[in-house]
Amino acid sequence: MAPTTAGPRLLLKRMREIMVERVSPQARLDKIVSIIASNMVAEVCSIYLTRPGGWLELFATEGLNKSAVHSTRLKIGEGIVGDVAQHARPLNLSDAPMHPSFSYRPETGEDPYQSMLGVPVLRGGRTLGVLAVQNRTHRHYGEEEVEALQTVAMVLAEMVVSGSLIDLGEIDTGLRRDRPWRGHGVSFCEGIAMGRAVLHEPRVKVEKLIADNVSDERERLDKAIDDLRSAIDEMLKTDDTVITGETRDVLEAYRMFAHDRGWLSKLREAVMSGLTAEAAVERVQNDTRARMARLSDPLLRDRLHDLDDLANRLLRHLMGKADTSAHEALPADTLLFARTMGPAELLDYDRSKIRGLVLEEGSPTSHVAIVARALDIPVVGRIDGILDQLEPGDWVIADGDTAEVHIRPAHDVREAYRHKLALRAQRQAAFAAMRTQPSVTKDGEQVRLLMNAGLLADLPHIEETGAEGIGLFRTELQFMISSHVPRLKDMISLYSAVLEGVGPRTAVFRTLDLGGDKVLPYARPAPEENPAMGWRAIRMTLDRPALLRYQIRALLRAAAARDLDIMFPMVAEVAEFRAARALVDRELDRLANTGGEPPRKIRVGTMLEVPALAFQLPTLLNFVDFISVGSNDLMQFFFASDRGNPRLGGRYDLLSPPMLNFLKGIVEAAKARGVPVTLCGEMAGRPLEAMALVGMGFRSLSMAPASIGPVKQMLLTLNYGRLSALMAGLYDSSEHSLREQLKQFAISEGVSI
Ligand code: PEP
Ligand code: MG
Repeated sequence: MAPTTAGPRLLLKRMREIMVERVSPQARLDKIVSIIASNMVAEVCSIYLTRPGGWLELFATEGLNKSAVHSTRLKIGEGIVGDVAQHARPLNLSDAPMHPSFSYRPETGEDPYQSMLGVPVLRGGRTLGVLAVQNRTHRHYGEEEVEALQTVAMVLAEMVVSGSLIDLGEIDTGLRRDRPWRGHGVSFCEGIAMGRAVLHEPRVKVEKLIADNVSDERERLDKAIDDLRSAIDEMLKTDDTVITGETRDVLEAYRMFAHDRGWLSKLREAVMSGLTAEAAVERVQNDTRARMARLSDPLLRDRLHDLDDLANRLLRHLMGKADTSAHEALPADTLLFARTMGPAELLDYDRSKIRGLVLEEGSPTSHVAIVARALDIPVVGRIDGILDQLEPGDWVIADGDTAEVHIRPAHDVREAYRHKLALRAQRQAAFAAMRTQPSVTKDGEQVRLLMNAGLLADLPHIEETGAEGIGLFRTELQFMISSHVPRLKDMISLYSAVLEGVGPRTAVFRTLDLGGDKVLPYARPAPEENPAMGWRAIRMTLDRPALLRYQIRALLRAAAARDLDIMFPMVAEVAEFRAARALVDRELDRLANTGGEPPRKIRVGTMLEVPALAFQLPTLLNFVDFISVGSNDLMQFFFASDRGNPRLGGRYDLLSPPMLNFLKGIVEAAKARGVPVTLCGEMAGRPLEAMALVGMGFRSLSMAPASIGPVKQMLLTLNYGRLSALMAGLYDSSEHSLREQLKQFAISEGVSI
């Protein structure tokens, strides 16, 4: 056979004609095998399709005994045909009977045929069947012939799933995603979401496979590739595009593939064989997916995943479709599904419609997770392969509490979740009703409940929760979700918006706390042996004072004529605090010299999260306006116990005698000197822990917005006097933890924990 592309082109044209003929589906199949055989100068052409139960059945043949049609069956993996189906790749054999997989089927009358070329009939990464040609001679089919048969197989696959060649009920397409499916991943943000699935990067359906004019298609393909390359280059270089380190890596991979000659020449060949540009992309994508299914190496699979994503992007360019669903009409209860997503991409969606987010990859510290938390969107991540299980519009449930995702859940599962959601809504309504109620114990102890924040998206929570202000504003989040160091004006505008948002209430701005697990997408930190104890937070900003001064300048400008509270993270000694405070004074002088309006009142405080600082309290209290205890870091340094190490999780307890004694010492020392003290670590937001904190003397707690309701409810049901009497007897305990005793107290006293 002449190795030209005219062959397949002619063949595709004939196939299209057959498709519109008014004949029975079987007659169409028979005609198709006949024209393939003649076009490929083969004596035999056969189509095998997959039956439910893992059987490949001969559906049509030219050249073999017709009586074998619908009677010859092979198991997937059995014989050469079964081998092609199992491995989803072509087999090109000049001496088929000698192949180890060869399985002799006398009823087909295939004895005289020596050479055989079999290719899988693939659709969406699944094998629908096998298309095979055979010849009497020991022929070796050329590369073009293999390509041509694969192209024909792809068109055949489309015809099969369109239902125009056979009744779809007869075969196993593996494409019916109609059964319930459940996956387990990692919780990135708690909460439950139920609604309809929306793919962040929508799939496109190629409708037209066979080209009217090959050179037009070639031109369209080339233009789409050029557009795609420029779009990727733009994304990589534009400063304003918010892309994180992960997204950047993926984009770099896209760029590499978009210039890969092998990939491009495959696409062009597919177009030259008579496919539309879209179908050519899908044809090459089919190969990628089939390879992906065969690979077990996760790194290589990742790269093929990237290539698959790139092909999707190319398809969207060709079809003029948007890259994401952000600006499409969304269902009122949308659950977004994506492989990965950048924080800015999430912010691009209409928040009022997004109920949850499910990611195939990512980590709880990824920036999109931080943004999702601020937006109070439940997120489940790291569910490998979930996108393959999903049809857009499916009913889905994402349970951020158990890290489970249900696709097309059965009726009873849906009902159970409806019930859970209703209960939550009731609780939320009860908390919302309490928002204006003072936070005070039954015996009259006032406790300030503040919230932690870090993004503009957090601000509405102040009103919703009735928080008395922001006890910890993590300024590093703005740096983390951006692709470059925010400019002075960006910082001023964020800080002004925060001050505007809190109105007469307080907002405590913590200066940059970078390092450890808080990494910037655009910085390449030098590797450290112990990053949590490394060059981070105030250590970094004191060594690079320009950045800290810049930030302080922005804070002073934003707070003109208003009160301003600034605090420094990870301070380990009084001298560090004084050095940082001196920078504030320098910036105040600078402001005065330039005629700027200073804040009405400025308070400068410190986080207490390094134990060493607690041992300098008498001196420290001379210099600070307030203290905020960071129990997250304090805990890990206090017990020398890495908080990220799962083996140590639960080994030491915050509610243990040493920790409670330590915290009590801090709060008592500060109170004795009249210095305000708050606790802003996660423990403040857990009702039982918060109860213990109140018991030891804390009167100001800062926590995630969702915790304010439950903690207030705890306070309203607590008798402080009785608790403090109980706790007085516990500080000298030799127990590992006081959790049980505290829990028993709460239960017997009816304290809501
Ligand atoms: C802490 O360490 O307790 C704290 C509030 O700071 P972060 O969680 O931001 O490290
Ligand atoms: Mg900390």
